[in-house]
Amino acid sequence: MGNDCLFCKIAEGKIPANRVYEDEVCLAFPDINPQAPTHVLVIPKVHVSSLATAEDGHTELLGKMLAAAAEIAQRLGLERGYRVVVNTGNDGGQTVHHLHLHVLGGRPMSWPPG
Ligand code: AMP
Ligand code: ZN
Repeated sequence: MGNDCLFCKIAEGKIPANRVYEDEVCLAFPDINPQAPTHVLVIPKVHVSSLATAEDGHTELLGKMLAAAAEIAQRLGLERGYRVVVNTGNDGGQTVHHLHLHVLGGRPMSWPPG
């Protein structure tokens, strides 16, 4: 699935990435254009284009991805806190159409976002 999908290629190992976390359903690697001292992307191994297209059968996967984000934050020493973001669709600023969680930390985050 997703022959032209960048994150599918990373999940399949066709494009190398520094896998800071991996389990049976998802993996995580640093964002190429970090917006914080720590900026990691958590992606499912299967192609799901966005949160908006996630189906009932993805509920467990979504839970595991969130749990992975918390595990990653702990591993990477974000004890002061962090932010998990899921950009969804055009207005959400989604540019890569393979579901991903941004895990951002290492500095105070502003609110509200722009
Ligand atoms: P979004 O705007 O939420 O779709 O986020 C996509 C993210 O993917 C952006 O923060 C990009 O910097 C990041 N990105 C794009 N290509 C790569 C890549 N090859 N490796 C790591 N991160 C990437
Ligand atoms: Zn994909």
